Amino acid sequence: MDHWLVINGLENAFPKEFGCSCARCVRTERTANTSASLITTDDEGNTRHHLLFDCGGGVADSLAQHDLLRGSRARLDGVILTHWHTDHSIDVRRLLTGWERSRRRSGATVTKVPLWCREGSAAWLWKEQPYAMSALAQPVVCAGSQPAGTVLEPVSFANAGVNVGVSVTPITMYHASADVSVPNTLDEPSLHVPCCAGFVITTPRAKTVLCWDMDATNDWVLQPDNLAVMLARDADTLLIDCNTWRVEHMAAGRTTGHASFQTVCRYVTALRPRRTVLMHLSGHEDAVGDGFGWTDAEWQARASHEWRTRDLPGSVVVPRIGQMFAV
Ligand SMILES: [Zn+2]
Ligand SMILES: [Zn+2]
Repeated sequence: MDHWLVINGLENAFPKEFGCSCARCVRTERTANTSASLITTDDEGNTRHHLLFDCGGGVADSLAQHDLLRGSRARLDGVILTHWHTDHSIDVRRLLTGWERSRRRSGATVTKVPLWCREGSAAWLWKEQPYAMSALAQPVVCAGSQPAGTVLEPVSFANAGVNVGVSVTPITMYHASADVSVPNTLDEPSLHVPCCAGFVITTPRAKTVLCWDMDATNDWVLQPDNLAVMLARDADTLLIDCNTWRVEHMAAGRTTGHASFQTVCRYVTALRPRRTVLMHLSGHEDAVGDGFGWTDAEWQARASHEWRTRDLPGSVVVPRIGQMFAV
């Protein structure tokens, strides 16, 4: 068996802002929200297992176009959502409806797709996507609203098909604008409910850590004895929220809800991955010449320069849609 982490998208919530003329918004390439797939292939090259992490805008198209999932190679053994925000969930209904239609057409068995998320996210999804939750998905809800930096029970799907030797352990993270309960209690901090999770994925060969969406208050990452840190440290690959280059607060003092590259550097120093993959890229809150409007190529050049000058661990990658990492 071989395991692959495939990038389905790396954009922030607003990949191309209508009316914006920056280089990032006027590029012609297809874009998609931040998402990745964990795909297992057998010795004949057949796709044997597929876990999807997040399903925002454009993700269904990315899956349809990837060699390992195209046509008769398509399969979907589970969807795992970091949180409920639409840029991580808006394509769930479209993807699962398409999957159901193509299964029916080919005479295959149609079953609901297991969908894992935390309790607070499930409440939002039942409110905003009731059809997907009731008719298309089999929700697997992780109970509780544990604070950031907590290790949760590994994701477990009943009837998940073949055992391919993969484990997925959620670790909780703060993500300000998602950590609210239904109905929206953004203005009442005592009612905030942490809703977001990252994941430590292990295969027989490698450890991969997904850390998105996360804001800059996740300094549990800097505590060496924290169990989540011990689990996530020294990964082969770390995929991390890098929404902006520098800015983490807007003019009114409100947080962007995300980490900037500067916070990524602090967290990477603590976690020491061999390879860091920058996800959830935007830069729209940044200043011109200092993040605003940068294309992926410019993000890569700037990040690589900082990696060298700050002597950060391993390598840094701005991925492209469809890029595969052996894990
Ligand atoms: Zn997001
Ligand atoms: Zn979010």
